[in-house]
Amino acid sequence: MTKTELEKFKAILEAKKAELSDAVRNREDIAIEKPPDAIDEVQLAGERELAIRNLDRESSLLRQVRAALARIADGSYGVCMHCEEDISPKRLNAVPQTPYCIRCQEAADRHEFEANDTLEDLLLNAA
Ligand SMILES: [Zn+2]
Repeated sequence: MTKTELEKFKAILEAKKAELSDAVRNREDIAIEKPPDAIDEVQLAGERELAIRNLDRESSLLRQVRAALARIADGSYGVCMHCEEDISPKRLNAVPQTPYCIRCQEAADRHEFEANDTLEDLLLNAA
């Protein structure tokens, strides 16, 4: 990957990170908000549940984006964390925060291996 491409992905990921950080902060506000007397508590509980679900999704996406930025910093970005092949530019354009090439992602989706970034990090650090 060229330096220009790396810079491009870095800019995309930084923007995503800022956007997700804001979203997560806002959801946290909703999730912990106390129900004012006038509002239907059932409806509010539903909204809070939805906010918490979105918060989960956005938090894990944010973690992936942060991890991808760390890989840009340490020079391992664009290489699959499972098979160590280059991830195709097409895939990176579509999902810039992905740690896996399409084949490994599909295998992970089928639970053929444990897609666990923390475990990968531990193994990498131990090596
Ligand atoms: Zn792979």
